[in-house]
Amino acid sequence: MIDLAPLHNPHNLRGIAASRAVLGADVPHVAVFDTAFHHTIPERAYLYAIPYQLYRRHKVRRYGFHGTSHRYVAYRWRELTGVPRDRTRIITLHLGNGCSACAIDGGNSIDTSMGFTPLEGLVMGTRSGDLDPAVLEYLGAKEGLSPSDVDNLLNKQSGLLGLSGLTNDMRELLAEADENDDRRARLAIDIFCYRARKYIGAYLAALGGADAIVFAGGIGENSAEIRAQICDGLGWAGVEVDEAANARMVGGAEGRITTESARLAVWVIPTDEELLIARDTYRVVTGAAARF
Ligand code: AMP
Repeated sequence: MIDLAPLHNPHNLRGIAASRAVLGADVPHVAVFDTAFHHTIPERAYLYAIPYQLYRRHKVRRYGFHGTSHRYVAYRWRELTGVPRDRTRIITLHLGNGCSACAIDGGNSIDTSMGFTPLEGLVMGTRSGDLDPAVLEYLGAKEGLSPSDVDNLLNKQSGLLGLSGLTNDMRELLAEADENDDRRARLAIDIFCYRARKYIGAYLAALGGADAIVFAGGIGENSAEIRAQICDGLGWAGVEVDEAANARMVGGAEGRITTESARLAVWVIPTDEELLIARDTYRVVTGAAARF
């Protein structure tokens, strides 16, 4: 699968080889794929509307990433609310340096915002997220950029960094916007929040309504301001943020940030990908039954 992710898979394999060199060939190695949780996404959501034979020939489709995080957050939400897995209908937002949204129905991922690579979807620290593919050729011609230059531009110089011209760090952007009234820092934040809200709207439609929206990731877990801005304008869907609860949910705190009367609950649940990786590894090695 190196072909599909040339920047990542060779390094992952090197990690396995290096560990094997230290631990010996008898110690089993388990690879926990960030795409695995998204295997339940139906064809209608994972296929791009390009000639079908290109999907067959080159496996060009949406795979989704951050699966371990979305899976953990959904599992933890069920644990906190007592809702059974098959009745779990929620939208999870992993907002860190990389960002993605996931629509979860019956406990399974049915759609997610990252695609063939982690470039698609939400605005991220340095990635553009959704973009008209025609921009690639146009920019290549105008700026004299090769396809790999454009790829680099969209992955490493875009998103919050590209829009603000300052930084990919949300903390710094918020400080610039609040303290120095920096227009482009504010613009980057506005675009980030607007895109996230659009995906929530799309996934509410995909799911036919949801029982909760859950924030995770460095930004989702720590920034009450960003959560409030994303939720602002979701009143029609039943979201009513409790300002005090929202302000409390930072630095690893876990809980609901909407009022008692809100029809659509919003939660903050710090992600724990390491825990699921450890559990998956244990399960694969011992053959124990799946819990999630
Ligand atoms: P992650 O990739 O999950 O570690 O998240 C990194 C992102 O979270 C960076 O953009 C950080 O600026 C952001 N972040 C961390 N703490 C805060 C905070 N207190 N307020 C706003 N953003 C934060």
